[in-house]
Amino acid sequence: METAKLATAKVVIIGSGPAGYSAAIYTSRAKLEPVLFGGLKSGGQLMNTTQVENYAGFSDGIMGPDLMMGMRKQAEKFGTVIKDQYVTAVDLSARPFRIWTNLPNGQDPEDFANKATPEEITASQETIKQNEPAILAESLIITTGAAPILLNVPGEHEFFARGVSACAVCDAAFFKEKIVYVIGGGDSAMEDATALTKFATEVHIVHRRDKFKASKVMVERVMNNPKIKVHWNSSLKEILGNKVVEKIKLIENGEDVEYPTQGVFLAIGHKPMNDIFKGQLLIDDHGYVVTRQSATAQGVELAKTSLSEKGLVQFPSMTSVEGVFAAGDGVDVRYKQAITAAGQGCAASLDAERWLER
Ligand code: NDP
Repeated sequence: METAKLATAKVVIIGSGPAGYSAAIYTSRAKLEPVLFGGLKSGGQLMNTTQVENYAGFSDGIMGPDLMMGMRKQAEKFGTVIKDQYVTAVDLSARPFRIWTNLPNGQDPEDFANKATPEEITASQETIKQNEPAILAESLIITTGAAPILLNVPGEHEFFARGVSACAVCDAAFFKEKIVYVIGGGDSAMEDATALTKFATEVHIVHRRDKFKASKVMVERVMNNPKIKVHWNSSLKEILGNKVVEKIKLIENGEDVEYPTQGVFLAIGHKPMNDIFKGQLLIDDHGYVVTRQSATAQGVELAKTSLSEKGLVQFPSMTSVEGVFAAGDGVDVRYKQAITAAGQGCAASLDAERWLER
């Protein structure tokens, strides 16, 4: 295919959360003229939150959307070209990398980005790549993030950020002397429940089985905490309230039961938005892109054994493909904070800059 006339950017950034915008601010100030593809609804997960109280520099807190619009403005001020489009396919087999934004016939971009299954995305890749790419890139910074997995029960969407949360570190402090429920049985649920006991009077864990999946040490911490009660063999059926969460309906051992509560924390895992990179980059079993900064046990092992060294060890944010860097929640299973994602975006941009100079 003839691609010679296509624009080639020194840096293309995919994603418009704190990691993407920070990478854009740094690379544009370094005169690398980055192009950022931010999706139709740019701004990432913070666009769905209300008050953010833990981002340094905002002593009175800041609304999530205001923080993200500020980052976008700052990136544009230094010359970042922002495209409000989804990237639908990439070819990382040779440099410059090829990047597509078109969709198979008639497909809605919103559905492709948020509803298509991993299998549907994989199946669409060859069709997409029959078209001319949108742009070529000498280097790529992936900051596509991770979305919390939702249960799709009534009330979950309606009360999101009004008592329903997927981030205890962010929101636990809003539940002082309240009764809260955590859904899940993995390490995230254990960590969230433990964090919530510092503020809430009662913390309940709702788990669908009679045994936790979480690591032994985390389970012990939960089981020894007198503020935490576990509802085994239970699932969330509905969240009820009037403007804010007031009640929860569970199915416990097959029966519907209602409890009063002010907070519901979803901790059933995250889905990293990395499907378009599958088969081209090293990705762990949880879907996180592997870099030397990986934090899942498997990611750490893969980074040790499988990332080709080639003298590139000084680029911790580089993926298994030279010239492709990754940052933020799509890499980071552990911290998942706006400020850590922003820091990682900065690190990836510095790595990209140094690698390009080389
Ligand atoms: P996990 O996938 O490990 O656990 C998800 C939990 O949610 C499981 O208990 C699962 O149930 C339950 N679940 C999944 N889907 C549903 C559903 N539809 N309805 C009800 N329950 C559901 O996700 P985590 O976020 O906990 O952890 C992801 C990775 O991150 C792991 O590798 C973990 O070790 C790591 N992590 C590490 C931390 C740390 O080191 N500090 C902190 C947090 C996470 P079931 O048990 O039946 O499968």
